[in-house]
Amino acid sequence: MGWFRRFILGLSSPKTGEAMEKESRNWMVQCPCGHERSVWEMGGIRSGASGKKKIYVRCDKCQKRHWNTVYYKEPANPKTEG
Ligand SMILES: [Zn+2]
Repeated sequence: MGWFRRFILGLSSPKTGEAMEKESRNWMVQCPCGHERSVWEMGGIRSGASGKKKIYVRCDKCQKRHWNTVYYKEPANPKTEG
């Protein structure tokens, strides 16, 4: 899936790409077995969206395909940027 990310980032300015990466890292994909990883780790990008979603993917822990919950994880220590 790496090519897809590079393709998207190639279309965006470096600043937009950075913001998209940051946001994608906060989107978590959780398997019913309890294993979770970020959308970014899975090679995906999720930006400008909200709410919960389900995706059917293979879990790299239990090695099974399940409906995984995609949700936005608020950063533990939000930085004030200005
Ligand atoms: Zn699993």
